[in-house]
Amino acid sequence: ATPLVVATSTALSAKNGLLIRNRTAFENSRKIDTIVFDKTGTLTLGEFGVNFIEIFNENYDEQRVIQLASALENNSEHPIATGIIRKAKEMDIEPLDMNDFQAMKGKGVKGKIENKDVMVVSPGYLKNNDISLPSDLPDHDISTNVFLLVNDELIAAIGLADKIREESYEAIESLKEQGIKCWMLTGDNEKTAAQVSKELNLDGYFAEVLPDEKQDKIKELQEDKKYVAMTGDGVNDAPALAQADVGIAIGSGTDVAAETADIILVNSNPQDVVSLIKFGKATYKKMI
Ligand code: ADP
Ligand code: MG
Repeated sequence: ATPLVVATSTALSAKNGLLIRNRTAFENSRKIDTIVFDKTGTLTLGEFGVNFIEIFNENYDEQRVIQLASALENNSEHPIATGIIRKAKEMDIEPLDMNDFQAMKGKGVKGKIENKDVMVVSPGYLKNNDISLPSDLPDHDISTNVFLLVNDELIAAIGLADKIREESYEAIESLKEQGIKCWMLTGDNEKTAAQVSKELNLDGYFAEVLPDEKQDKIKELQEDKKYVAMTGDGVNDAPALAQADVGIAIGSGTDVAAETADIILVNSNPQDVVSLIKFGKATYKKMI
């Protein structure tokens, strides 16, 4: 039988935006001393808008760049894809046929369009393939740049920007006040990660982490005797959510994340992590 305090607390949690899928993890939430947050879609809204297009090849224009990029991104669920597809709609761009689509986890997307190999990739991909930028890109806050390649030639940079969730500031502040260390884990570039980390006053971050490596970062912290919660929204985050002592999914995220997590933040509000810890402590203190 479920003890009354626990039952009451479950109802209370539901009211406060928490869906508890694993009671043991909830019970253990009072032991959390380190929380790792995914960046995109968790600390930030994960809603990217295109704010510049820089073209390096005179045979292309903005229409063509977005046309090619969106033909690929139509097959991706990444927030970057959503931003580029929205831009294509705004520009009334004619869709193109595309074949052999491939998602390169944590690096970008590729496919064949009009018999050419087309890719949209991360800065890390350019670095690893020794492709250098012909000019500096506009500098702005919380930016994520991706690059259009046609037959391995760099054609354009597309700059997108995301926003930090309003609630993230308060959530981090109150967690830190309780002595809980707050970390960020992201596949995004070092510079953007540093900006977000500084803005939110985080204790540390891991940047340019490939999807397969995310769970290793959680393990590293656990090996350092930390009791770790992970909060994420993406398919990429699922192994890290499973590895963490307490896995917390953002409600607006992917099904895979939700199915892997112990607890779901129904309202996608990072502030509810604070409630989780509060309820965990209150509930199990009464029982002892
Ligand atoms: P995050 O940890 O921020 O959720 P991901 O691991 O999903 O990041 O992606 C890391 C990087 O890979 C992105 O910042 C981007 O540069 C690139 N990337 C991933 N998916 C796509 C996509 N669909 N289109 C373009 N670039 C992508
Ligand atoms: Mg994410």
